[in-house]
Amino acid sequence: MAAQVADRDVLVVGAGPVGLAAALALRARGISATVLEAEPADRQRPGSRAIYTHRATLEIIERNTPGLGHELASHGLVWPTKRTLFRGREVYRQTYPPPPKGVLPPLTSLPQVEQERVLFDACKAAGIEFVWEAEIVSVATDPDGVTLTTAGGDTWSARCVVGADGARSAVRAGIGAELQGDRSENSFVIVDVDDDPDHPLPLERVFHYEHPAVDGRNVLLVPFAGGWRVDLQCRVEDDPDSFSSPEGVRAWLRRVLPDSYAERVSWVSTYRFLQVIADTFVDEHRRVLLVGEAAHLFAPFGARGMNSGVADADAAAAAIQQALGATVRGVAEEAVATFDRERREAAEWNRYAAGKALAYMQARDLVTNAKRRAAALAARRVTRAGKWLDSRPYGPRLKAGQTKVTY
Ligand SMILES: Cc1cc2nc3c(=O)[nH]c(=O)nc-3n(C[C@H](O)[C@H](O)[C@H](O)COP(=O)(O)OP(=O)(O)OC[C@H]3O[C@@H](n4cnc5c(N)ncnc54)[C@H](O)[C@@H]3O)c2cc1C
Repeated sequence: MAAQVADRDVLVVGAGPVGLAAALALRARGISATVLEAEPADRQRPGSRAIYTHRATLEIIERNTPGLGHELASHGLVWPTKRTLFRGREVYRQTYPPPPKGVLPPLTSLPQVEQERVLFDACKAAGIEFVWEAEIVSVATDPDGVTLTTAGGDTWSARCVVGADGARSAVRAGIGAELQGDRSENSFVIVDVDDDPDHPLPLERVFHYEHPAVDGRNVLLVPFAGGWRVDLQCRVEDDPDSFSSPEGVRAWLRRVLPDSYAERVSWVSTYRFLQVIADTFVDEHRRVLLVGEAAHLFAPFGARGMNSGVADADAAAAAIQQALGATVRGVAEEAVATFDRERREAAEWNRYAAGKALAYMQARDLVTNAKRRAAALAARRVTRAGKWLDSRPYGPRLKAGQTKVTY
């Protein structure tokens, strides 16, 4: 087939959650974007990944597509109770009343693949164009726009491009941006298990510091609609493969959940988490805007990955709207430069907060270790100490002077 040459106002590269959110955010501002996705339309995406969607994200989605934030929330669940244990002893427990009807809940817990389905259906309902099996391999920008080339040799040109093509972003590479930062020394084994209706578990998010049944490794249990996410924090000296092989998973899972769950594993993955940010989120001509994991990767504690990606997508759409509406080139460039500045600043904060969470979970220094133990002791009498322990694995929520949580 002859290679195509097509022209659009705005292209979004990548149909992950952030690309889909970007297409909807553009549509809300009267801009119709075309989404170019490397994979085929019938692809199967693995694992639960971003299960935790914060209210701030639901609010953005609801503002851009009225009803959609509520719809996402209706598919997910809100766990009513959170508990923290230290070496098997409960140090904190809090139960919340159910969120009032008609308002967005503080969170929704739903596998990423389900969130993508809901966002994709909304894109289709809004008439957004999708081109599947369109893997972008090169990017050329000039002061007037961008030309993208696919692996099949097609070329797509546009006035602006949103790069939402994930961790290995070709768009990021194409504009010469580089990820900077580091990665966790130890590995985490992340397992999804399906609900077992014969042995239902209480709907609680449970964090175990130094779980005695797994030789003092940390374990996090998070319910989501349809199943459970179980994270095991390996030690630096552990061989993660021995905990992530089918027998390895079954062996440790049996020690932290009822037996039957060891036979209900639906996804296993091992990560050493990256904490990296692109040195620029835009190209030299202010025509390409990077969002989501194309722009940054964080450890997932505090759930800042997809959540901040949706905030990037919204900010990128606002900047593109200003840029396309500007009659003076300098004004257009400034709108995109402001996106770059503000979203990189947000990414710095998200990385800092996720890094704090990671450091507390790892407790590789004596001071953190001592603080954890002292708080666990004090929690017998002082609720605040237990609350402090409970909050550490998620990192700080508010920056100094901030009153509303943002990502
Ligand atoms: C274990 C784990 C738990 C997590 N938990 C949470 C959580 O609770 N909350 C949260 O907010 N985040 C969480 N995250 C992070 C979240 O999964 C990511 O932030 C999210 O997937 C990023 O979305 P994205 O759209 O930027 O990238 P992706 O989901 O990677 O999507 C990128 C898309 O671009 C396409 N693509 C790639 N290259 C090209 C190309 N060259 N041309 C065209 N298309 C291309 C891909 O096929 C894909 O469809 C978690 C991650 C992990 C691993």
